[in-house]
Amino acid sequence: MKHYDIIIIGAGPAGIFAALEIVASGKGLKVLMVEKGLDIDQRICPSAQWKTSCTLCSECGLLCGWGGAGAFSDGKLSLSKEIGGNLSRYVSESELQGLIDYTDGLYIAYGAPSEVYGGDMDAVARIREAAEQNMLTLIPSKIRHIGTDRCPLVLKKMKEALNGKVDVLFSKDVRKILVEDGRAAGVEAGGETFQAGFVIVAPGREGALWLERQAKQMGLSLLKNPVDIGVRIEVPAATLENLTSVIYEPKLIYHTKKFNDRIRTFCVNPYGEVVKEYVKGVWIVNGHSYAHTKTENTNFALLVSTFFTEPFDEPHLYGRYVARLANLLGKGVILQRLGDLQAGRRSNPARVRRGKVKPSLADAVPGDLSFALPHRYISNILEMLKVMDRIAPGVNSPHTLLYGVEVKFYSRQLKLSRCLETEIENFFAIGDGAGVSRGLIQASASGIIAAREILKRQG
Ligand SMILES: Cc1cc2nc3c(=O)[nH]c(=O)nc-3n(C[C@H](O)[C@H](O)[C@H](O)COP(=O)(O)OP(=O)(O)OC[C@H]3O[C@@H](n4cnc5c(N)ncnc54)[C@H](O)[C@@H]3O)c2cc1C
Repeated sequence: MKHYDIIIIGAGPAGIFAALEIVASGKGLKVLMVEKGLDIDQRICPSAQWKTSCTLCSECGLLCGWGGAGAFSDGKLSLSKEIGGNLSRYVSESELQGLIDYTDGLYIAYGAPSEVYGGDMDAVARIREAAEQNMLTLIPSKIRHIGTDRCPLVLKKMKEALNGKVDVLFSKDVRKILVEDGRAAGVEAGGETFQAGFVIVAPGREGALWLERQAKQMGLSLLKNPVDIGVRIEVPAATLENLTSVIYEPKLIYHTKKFNDRIRTFCVNPYGEVVKEYVKGVWIVNGHSYAHTKTENTNFALLVSTFFTEPFDEPHLYGRYVARLANLLGKGVILQRLGDLQAGRRSNPARVRRGKVKPSLADAVPGDLSFALPHRYISNILEMLKVMDRIAPGVNSPHTLLYGVEVKFYSRQLKLSRCLETEIENFFAIGDGAGVSRGLIQASASGIIAAREILKRQG
C-alpha cells in the first residue's frame, strides 16, 4: 500500500491547478495524480488523425489524459465571474475575481498569449446598448484565446513544471474512493490501494456519471441540474465581425416571447470550424477555432436550458434521447439551411451546395432538424435568430447553416462547503465533474480553492 498526503483524481485543468498550487507552496507534500487517460504527447484521436469515423476508444483521446477536455479545447479563457461556472455560490464576488485573475496569470506564465479581447469598453458599451434595444442581454467578458493548436503546448509546460514534484499515474482508472471514520482515506485504482489524508476528485464531464454513482454509494447529497439543448449555427465570418472583433465571444441571452424560455449564444468560434464529438454514446456538435489556422466562417451554439422537476428528473437521458433521434435520422449530425427549415422542407446536398455558406463539417448529413428537435426548441431558435439579426445583420439569412444537435450535459452537483469540501471530511470535489465549473478558468480556479484549504489545514 502506498501512502501520500494528497491524491488528485483526474489530470484536467482542475486537477492540474490544484497540483500546481500545492507544489508552489513549497511544503514538500507528497502528491499523487491518478489519470485514466494518457500523457499529453501520447494522446491521439484515431478518427481525427486518419479522418475515419470514431473508433470508440475505451478512453477517449480527445477528453481523457493529461489536460483532460482542456487539452484540445478551443482554449478561450473567460475572464468574467459571470461566465463558466457556479463558483460564485461558494466564494464572494471579489474573491472569485481575484481567483480568476490569479488563474489567468498562471495560464500566461505557461504560454497563453497576452492579447485580450473585450477590453475596448466604449465599443462593448455600444454593442450592449444595441443588444438591450432589441431585448437581448449581453454579458460582457474579457476573453483570452489560447487556440486549439496552442492548448497542448501550455498544458505540456505545466506538466514539465510538476515533473519530479508530484507522482502521476496514467492509464489508471480510479474505481473507488476510500473513507474511514467519516474521513477521506485514499483510492483504489488498477487493483491497487493508495492511501492519503486528503482526496480531491476532479473527473470532468467524462467521469461525472462515475462520480455520481460514487456519491450515491457514499450517501452524499446531490442537487438538481439542467440539460442544454440546441444547434450550432454557422455563418460567414463577416456576419458577426462587428461583434467578434470587439468581444471575441459575445454572450447574448434572450427570453423568447412564445415559450418564455431562456436561450443563449455559447462557444462562439470566429473563423473556426464545426466539429462533431462522441459523448455518452451519441454524436453531438461542437466548435473550434485555432490560433494559426482560419476558415471563412464563424460558428456558435444556440442553447436552451431545461430543468426537469417531477416525475421525470433525468436530464442526461433526455439530452441523449434527442441526440439519438438526430443520429438515427442523419446517421450522425444533421445539417440544414435556415431557409429550408423556415420553409418546412429538408435540406439536401444540392440545396446545401447552392448555399452561400460552405459547411466546415464535411460529413454532416443534410436533412430536417424539425424531425429531431422538439417544436419548442426549434421555435426558440428561430425567434432568437430573428432578434440577433438586428445587431448582426445576415444571421437570419436563408443561407445560414444549422447543425444538430448540440447538447451540453452538466454534471450532477454535489453538496459542497465554501472550500469545495463534500460532506465527507477531507474529500474535495472540483471542476466540471462536480458541477462547480463549466469552463477552463473556473475549473482551474476550483483546483486552487481546494488546494489552498488543504494547505491551510496542513499548517
Ligand atoms: C471541444 C471542447 C472545446 C472546449 N472549449 C472551451 C473553451 O474554449 N473555453 C473553456 O473555458 N472551456 C472549453 N471547454 C470546456 C473545458 O475543456 C472544461 O471546462 C475543462 O476541461 C474542465 O476541466 P476539469 O479538470 O474539470 O475536467 P476535464 O478537463 O474533463 O478533466 C477530467 C480528467 O479526469 C479524468 N478522469 C475521469 N474520471 C476518472 C477516474 N475515475 N479515474 C482517473 N481519471 C479520471 C479524465 O480522463 C480527464 O482527463 C471545451 C471542451 C471541449 C470538449
